[in-house]
Amino acid sequence: MFNNVLLPIDLDQKSSWEKALPTAVEFCRASGGNLHVLTVVPNFGMSLVEQYFPKGFEKKMAEQTLKNLHEFVNANVPAEIKVQHIVGEGAVYEVILSIADKIKADVIVLASHRPELKDYLLGPNAARVVRHASCSVMVVRD
Ligand code: ADP
Repeated sequence: MFNNVLLPIDLDQKSSWEKALPTAVEFCRASGGNLHVLTVVPNFGMSLVEQYFPKGFEKKMAEQTLKNLHEFVNANVPAEIKVQHIVGEGAVYEVILSIADKIKADVIVLASHRPELKDYLLGPNAARVVRHASCSVMVVRD
């Protein structure tokens, strides 16, 4: 049922994966599907702040993030799950939606919001993903 499960995570925000990751793993186990773990970093290209960063900064940041993502997966995803590691660049919800199409995701699993935004039922990225995704979206609540 779920051949491709997309799990977008913020590596600096435990709440973005603490509950969503076990759910995504269960979906993969139940269907023998692949887990695609995605983290998004900002894209400085064309922006005003670009000039303040050393040349090659973006490439280095993406490489370091991919390394961190591998470490995260090794530490938190059971070894029998097939994982694809993805680092995207740009606006979080846009990248989530575009990667979901690219990998033909059957379901996107995400947390509803960070703890500071507990008065909102859905954070800004989660809301946009739910509204625009062409596949199913599982919002895991606290
Ligand atoms: P909040 O603003 O409270 O984080 P969001 O709606 O932005 O609420 O975040 C909800 C979900 O969006 C997270 O659980 C995660 O799945 C995804 N997300 C947020 N930031 C990133 C990021 N940098 N990379 C990948 N996914 C992210």
